[in-house]
Amino acid sequence: MKQFHMTYEGAGSFSAKLEEIRQYCDTNPAHTVVFRIYSCDMDQEHIAQLCSLLDEKMPQAFYFGCTSNANILDGALSLAEVIVTCTIFEYETTRAALLQYPFTEENYKAAVDDLKKHCESNPWVKSIEMAATIMNMSMRGFCDEMSSLPREIQVFGGGAFNPNMDDDIAWVFSKGNGFLERGIVFLLLGGEDFHAQSTYISGWKPLQRRFLITKADKEILYELDGKPAFDVYKRFLAIEKNDNFFSNTLEFPLFLEHGKHNILRCPLSVNEDDSLVMSSDMEENAYVKIAYGDPETILSSIWQDGQKISDFHPEVIQTFSCAARKAFWGDENISEETVMFRNIAPTDGFYTHGEFIRLDGDMLNFNVTLVIAAMREGEMVEANQKAFFGPTFRKRNKIPMIWRFVSFIETSTAELEEMNRKLIMAATTDGLTRLYNRTEIERRIREALAESKRDVSGGGLCLIMLDIDNFKRVNDTYGHREGDLVIIGLSDVLKKAAEDSPEISVGRWGGEEFMMLLKGKSSDRLEELAEEIRKDFMSISFPNAGHQTVSVGITRLQDNETVDSLCSRVDKALYSAKETGKNRVVAL
Ligand code: GH3
Ligand code: MG
Ligand code: MG
Repeated sequence: MKQFHMTYEGAGSFSAKLEEIRQYCDTNPAHTVVFRIYSCDMDQEHIAQLCSLLDEKMPQAFYFGCTSNANILDGALSLAEVIVTCTIFEYETTRAALLQYPFTEENYKAAVDDLKKHCESNPWVKSIEMAATIMNMSMRGFCDEMSSLPREIQVFGGGAFNPNMDDDIAWVFSKGNGFLERGIVFLLLGGEDFHAQSTYISGWKPLQRRFLITKADKEILYELDGKPAFDVYKRFLAIEKNDNFFSNTLEFPLFLEHGKHNILRCPLSVNEDDSLVMSSDMEENAYVKIAYGDPETILSSIWQDGQKISDFHPEVIQTFSCAARKAFWGDENISEETVMFRNIAPTDGFYTHGEFIRLDGDMLNFNVTLVIAAMREGEMVEANQKAFFGPTFRKRNKIPMIWRFVSFIETSTAELEEMNRKLIMAATTDGLTRLYNRTEIERRIREALAESKRDVSGGGLCLIMLDIDNFKRVNDTYGHREGDLVIIGLSDVLKKAAEDSPEISVGRWGGEEFMMLLKGKSSDRLEELAEEIRKDFMSISFPNAGHQTVSVGITRLQDNETVDSLCSRVDKALYSAKETGKNRVVAL
């Protein structure tokens, strides 16, 4: 594999470069030739001219490209508007194909279906490189569809963009297919001797504190933990609603927990109602964490993760880096995060409107991420491995100051969370039995009643109330300690009855009285469970008190009922059990 890369400065100089490449191909093995064109020049005429030169001078070559926010040439930000790379595959076995489709929320499925058919009939396909116009479009459906491609096929690429971040015009194009403003191009590569490896690096690190997305719709993030989403930025990070909002939040984007993956999303702006416009889809009921990025942390992650790329011994490296990263670093410094790769292999690519990578079969749409695809023909040759030079601060062995602050915050947060957990435990449980206390079981009954009123499907709701029979006698005859053991004995039976069901809550109502709350499916077993508990308790033999019994009242929620009426009926049922001879279950 051999890579040429060049800037496009007009037809004259480009023709000369194509001539040079053609001569190379004539005298060297060159079975498949692929050109990639990334353009910040939004004038399609200019690119059409470039394409017709390719058609004319290199008619056997594949070519495709897209508009971009900026380009990466030889591992660094290129100041040229248009860059062209030319990859020459030297093995006869290596194969390529180009597919291009219209791409909107209505017709992405047809594109993926056709791509799948293509992969089925061409089992040589090993990697799919893609460029797509994705602005103002949800990628969720597309990613779900792409995830069902044969698992071993890698997918990577980027969203076409515009040199002006506020402009949403972008296009893709490919040989023989013209230009599409709503389009997607796939470059399929494969064959016995072709190898690809893709990875992603963000460099931003999550802080442990999680926030629940309580309201979101597509890329609008309305609420976190039930409060307007902007509140998190304002309260935790003192970020204001002003012109610096985007550059400030860039340092603290959000990690979205999506299945087993963490995906970065960047707040682009704040709305009047304090909701946030995010860089891509959010998901209601998922969790987010605040991420922090600082140059040293980012470079050190790139250095660590980039090692994997180095170990693959690539011959060509394609990079798809988020335009937000360029905004974060600034044009003077952005190249620091890619330049180290050119020591390993020719490194080119572009600044995207979103990055794509397939991980463990799942197709993901990232933001603020650097996706790296490494390619090679033939087996790895140890002797060919190039040294991978990390950033200089690593050599100094210095730990960035921010890591120490983050360590301080994380440790303090963990300690507070642990303390909070203990406080909640103390406030809701009974010391002797470790069951819920009266306040907590009452709260749970109130909550369950409110839930059952909201839920039209009407999951069942039942109460079981229990009171140990003749308990005073146990205390009086065998002492308070033995009495305690009997109370603990019954609470163990109750815990066992509830142990596998999150729908059952058990509390100590007072003294030797207990209350059980059954919700949903568990309420189908009300009578059976009450009888089981009565018998299980009776079968225990206490050291001095021997066998003891319990009386049980049970009841089901009726229409238009209050907590008071429900509790008073179960209390009456229990009373009736006592009145009619104890050691029995009475339903009311
Ligand atoms: P009944 O069959 O009618 O329920 O009779 P009983 O003797 O169980 O009735 P009562 O409710 O009068 O007795 C409850 C006793 O439980 C009174 C109280 O001293 C005792 N008690 C309350 N809490 C505890 C405790 O934590 N440990 C012990 N050992 N006894 C307790
Ligand atoms: Mg009692
Ligand atoms: Mg009693």
